[in-house]
Amino acid sequence: MSGQICLIDGCQARVYAPAGTRSVCKDHFLGFLTWRRRRGPQMFRKYAGMTMDERDVIVGEWLQTLGTKDLAHPIPGL
Ligand SMILES: [Zn+2]
Repeated sequence: MSGQICLIDGCQARVYAPAGTRSVCKDHFLGFLTWRRRRGPQMFRKYAGMTMDERDVIVGEWLQTLGTKDLAHPIPGL
């Protein structure tokens, strides 16, 4: 499992944290975190109690938002 890279297409960074059943790099993890925060504290708490399979659905939603805009924006308020 040592050569694992970020689940985002085209991202070659090493994995940093799990997102569902897969893993993302640090930058993408922070983006995912921010996205969940924007959806409100309720979502944030809910995610913590989800199973991996349920998290994959949330990760999928987040991945779709990545397709429509650049992720390279600095994260406000972090
Ligand atoms: Zn990445």
